[in-house]
Amino acid sequence: MILVDACVGNDKTVPSMAEWHQQKGSRFMSSLAAAGVTVADVDYVLCTHLHTDHVGWNTRLVDGRWVPTFPNARYLLPAADEDFFAAQAGAVYAESVLPVIEANQSERVSAGHMLGDFVTLIATHGHTPGHVSVLIHSKGAEAIITGDALHTTAQCAHPEWHFKYDMDAEQAVTSRCQLLSEAAEKNRRVLGSHFALPSIGRVTAKGDAFEWNAD
Ligand SMILES: [Zn+2]
Repeated sequence: MILVDACVGNDKTVPSMAEWHQQKGSRFMSSLAAAGVTVADVDYVLCTHLHTDHVGWNTRLVDGRWVPTFPNARYLLPAADEDFFAAQAGAVYAESVLPVIEANQSERVSAGHMLGDFVTLIATHGHTPGHVSVLIHSKGAEAIITGDALHTTAQCAHPEWHFKYDMDAEQAVTSRCQLLSEAAEKNRRVLGSHFALPSIGRVTAKGDAFEWNAD
């Protein structure tokens, strides 16, 4: 069982986002339960990047200490992101990344990394230095989980638009165009991590841009 990106989490220090700061929500855990999954079932937690809204549930606060939420999981961390956020030494690293490293549950990965026979990490750097998207390939069909290579379907029609939190905006545009063009060419199903529902669809090339068609 692979979990891709662990949302915002509870009790995290995110003063820049009031609704996330020290939140105590039940939606993530109840959604996991509704999918028939317990925290013990997760074998891998795959982080597309190390922003606060993608690594929150990596850990949870137990008796005042951050512990890995998924006791049996290996946490796959993009190496370039780990280096960057370790140097930044912010709350997101201290609360949601460092504890899984200290628990010896982490593994540094880079684009091209394969997880079993059906999952490959694809380089989509720019949003963060080590950002990866997740390509799933099975029985001739392919799907790509975008992570934050895109945030909205409007970026299909305008892949050149800069997103506020893209750290290297020009590199992010290049990565976005490449992801979309390969998705169109290979008829990949696109799963937009931040898209409004329905967040799954396909893209077709249209001039220099792409048309989004929800499934
Ligand atoms: Zn992000």
